[in-house]
Amino acid sequence: MTDYDFFTLDDVETSNKRVFLRVDINVPLDPSTHLILDDTRIRGIAETLAKLDDAKVVLGSHQSRPGKDDFTSLEPHARVLAQYCSQDVKFVDDVIGPHARQRIGKVQAGQVLVLDNLRFCAEENLDDRPEKLVKTHFVRRLSPLFDLNVNDAFATAHRSQPSIVGLTEVLPSAAGRLMQKELKAVSILLEEPRRPCVYVLGGAKVEDKIPVIEHILERDKADKILLGGVPAKLFLKAMEKKTSSEDEKETAGLQEYVERAKSLVRKHRDKIEVPVDLAYEEKGEKRLDRNVDSTPAKESALDIGAKTIEKYSKFVESAATSVANGPLGVFERNGFDLGTKMVLESMSRGNGYSVIGGGHLVGLASILGIDERFTHVSTAGGAMLSLLSGQSLPGVDALVRAAARMRNSNSGK
Ligand code: ADP
Ligand code: MG
Repeated sequence: MTDYDFFTLDDVETSNKRVFLRVDINVPLDPSTHLILDDTRIRGIAETLAKLDDAKVVLGSHQSRPGKDDFTSLEPHARVLAQYCSQDVKFVDDVIGPHARQRIGKVQAGQVLVLDNLRFCAEENLDDRPEKLVKTHFVRRLSPLFDLNVNDAFATAHRSQPSIVGLTEVLPSAAGRLMQKELKAVSILLEEPRRPCVYVLGGAKVEDKIPVIEHILERDKADKILLGGVPAKLFLKAMEKKTSSEDEKETAGLQEYVERAKSLVRKHRDKIEVPVDLAYEEKGEKRLDRNVDSTPAKESALDIGAKTIEKYSKFVESAATSVANGPLGVFERNGFDLGTKMVLESMSRGNGYSVIGGGHLVGLASILGIDERFTHVSTAGGAMLSLLSGQSLPGVDALVRAAARMRNSNSGK
């Protein structure tokens, strides 16, 4: 299931070809100046661009989504991109209009033309079936201008959108280098991870973490799941531990997930670790650790406590495989980044195969300067979690269908 039957850049001719390259260089931006704060995702596509240095490349990405503060133009991205490739990089402030199409027609081999934020085109925000996507103006206007479509946007591959699935449906298509590398890293986790294999799951969203725990434990691909953040609160509730009124509010609408957590606890109690202590902000105290059996009545738990940090650190440091997604506490608040930092650092000290993903966690690892010590730092959050929960990615499925189509049309000649 994890050996993907799609074409890569080794299987297709790119010299002098008009190539549409979909990447995900959606990056954290300063909300007021719009300066790029972390360019990990831009660096991530350098290998693909190097491989395409003899092609006429038109690069497309989104940045955030409509309504958000960081939903902006891709012009600064184009400037940063120029530092990571040998090509002459240009930018056009249009996506599918006549201005963009005219500039696309003039791209020379050895050049990269960066289109503006693809989500400035309303249709790109659709998440729909392939049959619908191929009929969009986005696909109908852009597809005739290209010989080849390359998808290197692993972090967006869980979306069924015009630039991810629509173009792949109608053009000869191949996966880029980053896409290959990311899929390979997750394949190792889903096939035969070296044991013991430990997962650290935190963050705010339980709806994307519970399916991962279910899938991984059902298929016996992990030995320990260490919980932090809101997922920890959910499991504490499922285990009928006393929780504070604020924590109760945070898990109030999640009854379906509490039930699923209960069922996981019944089946796999020995593999699920919840915090033994939690950190709170109480009565002017900066950070107060309390054992889970002496939970305060009201305050929200903001981090895992010192005993839990020690316990989790031992597990990740001695693991042969470790995976982390989502911070263990509200790391944005002073003092409550301790759990996430310490556990990440222990994980990076271990000698095992280590993978981290999710924007918040990866950003923190890069601030700490320890990102190079992990085996794989994923550019994705949601897409990686989808795969780990056993779902296939629409963008990857489309690449597989494209390869089948390309083989059929070759054999017909
Ligand atoms: P990631 O981006 O790494 O995938 P998520 O998006 O799921 O992670 O969640 C990140 C958010 O989770 C952070 O903003 C953090 O403040 C929040 N969070 C972490 N721990 C807690 C907690 N104990 N209570 C409330 N929110 C938390
Ligand atoms: Mg996030």
